[in-house]
Amino acid sequence: MADFKGRKTPGQQAAGPGGFWRIVLIILAAWLAMNLLTGGRNEPLIDYTMFLNQVERGNVESVTLEGREVTGVFKEPVQIGDAPANGAKPAKNERFTTHVPDFGDDDLLSTLREQGVSVKTLPARDRGWFWYLVISFLPLLLIGGLIYMQYRRMQGGGGGGMFNIGKSKARRAEPEKQKTTFDDVAGAKGPKKELEEIINFLKDPSAVRKLGGEVPRGMLLVGPPGTGKTLLARAVAGEAGVPFYHISGSDFMEMFVGVGASRVRDLFKEAKKNAPSIVFIDELDSIGRRRGAGLGGGHDEREQTLNQLLSELDGFEPNEDVIVMSATNRPDILDPALLRPGRFDRRVSVPMPSVDEREEILDIYVRNKPLADDVDLRRLASSTPGFSGADLENILNEAALLAARAEREEIANKDIENARDKVMMGLQRHGLTMTEEEKRIVAFHEAGHAMTAALLPRADPLHKVSVIPRAQSMGVTQQFPERDRYIYRKEYMLDRLAVMMGGRASEMLVFGTATSGAGNDLQQAFKLARRMVLSWGMSEKFAHMAMGGPEGQVFLGEEIASRREYSDQTATEVDLEVKSLLDEAYQRARECIEDHREELDKIVEELLDQEEIPGKRVLDILGVEKQPPKEAERQDA
Ligand code: ADP
Ligand code: MG
Ligand code: ZN
Repeated sequence: MADFKGRKTPGQQAAGPGGFWRIVLIILAAWLAMNLLTGGRNEPLIDYTMFLNQVERGNVESVTLEGREVTGVFKEPVQIGDAPANGAKPAKNERFTTHVPDFGDDDLLSTLREQGVSVKTLPARDRGWFWYLVISFLPLLLIGGLIYMQYRRMQGGGGGGMFNIGKSKARRAEPEKQKTTFDDVAGAKGPKKELEEIINFLKDPSAVRKLGGEVPRGMLLVGPPGTGKTLLARAVAGEAGVPFYHISGSDFMEMFVGVGASRVRDLFKEAKKNAPSIVFIDELDSIGRRRGAGLGGGHDEREQTLNQLLSELDGFEPNEDVIVMSATNRPDILDPALLRPGRFDRRVSVPMPSVDEREEILDIYVRNKPLADDVDLRRLASSTPGFSGADLENILNEAALLAARAEREEIANKDIENARDKVMMGLQRHGLTMTEEEKRIVAFHEAGHAMTAALLPRADPLHKVSVIPRAQSMGVTQQFPERDRYIYRKEYMLDRLAVMMGGRASEMLVFGTATSGAGNDLQQAFKLARRMVLSWGMSEKFAHMAMGGPEGQVFLGEEIASRREYSDQTATEVDLEVKSLLDEAYQRARECIEDHREELDKIVEELLDQEEIPGKRVLDILGVEKQPPKEAERQDA
């Protein structure tokens, strides 16, 4: 109520429905009140005695008997009620109404006949229940109306409102509005091929049916975040030219219990009405999480929603041409019921882009960006392993912003380099005052990483070393693989561990003490070493045992529920194996650095001077020709 005369939301300016209903309500209330007071009659009520008097005087022309109610017309108008106090001429009435007593009046009819009054009789109007209803519900109705209007106002007038929360929030995109096509999706050849079938079906369902083709109803796009799952789903709708209903799993979770379920119902109803069409449920894991797995018991609302979804998936008639697509990056936590045949039984995996695909994605996003000649997208693509399409898009955006800030006409290579570093490692920290001593520690630390990376045969090629402080670190040593790898050898892992230890080893060698700067390296090395022992059987003692669970983050509820599957004694041995891997890595790093002590000082000197030096320069200083080729080895890996 507070905002009655205050803030006006845009939707309220149209005031249409809200204002209209308010007026209707008020009129209705007034009418009801009038009826209640007058008993539904407009004629003035007179005493029964007065009525009998008038009849006996012969002043009544006609009466209508309706149950106990009597209405009638006087011959001469009669003044009813007291004369007005101010002595004005009192109004006279021609018509009247009165009531016959409950026990009846046996003489009434004969009296009326004697006086020649014309009598009309009607069956009694049984208004008892009606008035009862009106009287008991009027207040409720009024209060309800007020609450309703209040809600509308809170919701900003227009479409939404308390009575609409159950309605689907799905945005309906008309076919002509869905302009995304497969051309907008770079790479993703596999997924595109699998989705082709669906597009053909949606374009002409009957043609496929005639051939006896059965089309999968539910498609689940699975892949890491940012790999273009949502984009692909849109593109399918765009290619097929059918209505596209898009809703995100989290949209279901709102306000009141039961709303999610009714949204699902609504969404499917709409889609069926406009078939052939696509329903796309993004982030399926937020409703489709395995039931009963959460902490502290189930989540009722979510389960209701999920159950509704399951029953909708089952409830299609064979000829209803609705394709249900959904996407998730956590297929492992989905409720198994969702994946049963007839539901989301078809999986399309959308992987991280390969180098070539990254280049294609970059090509798409530089279309509208002017690039300087020194920009090499191939190089950018190969230096961004593990980057998703979304990350790449982000890099190019950042680069454009940096170029604009520097008031350049074109995006230069350094903008792209900086953007990549920013996306990878966070913003540079300016105005950070470090003492000379601290700077030296950082420089030796990074130089240690760089040297081990340059010297160890299987380490990824060194890209650059930098001691520019950034959001997450004081310095960085970047290595980029020449190509994406899917399988790693144990030797590669060992070299990688040694490179991680390089920072600490260099500090120890030069300053003779440990610093906190290596904390992050040590954590990562520990994680990697544990994985080597537990998941990959890369230790001597447990060469053929994988004791670790599935990789990747584990769903919270599960993590707690799942137990270690080996004995305490084994756990101790695992710890020892991990420790020996780490010790060995440290030793190797230390030897690398000790053997090139002079070069270390030289690298540090240049680092402190220039803040950032390319990997090639480190190789020069070390007098290493080039990292040994690893192609042969990789091929059989
Ligand atoms: P997901 O749903 O898999 O998390 P999105 O489809 O939302 O990822 O994609 C995130 C962003 O990355 C979008 O802006 C999209 O344009 C871009 N993107 C991701 N993969 C590709 C690709 N293969 N081609 C073009 N753009 C992509
Ligand atoms: Mg998405
Ligand atoms: Zn480090």
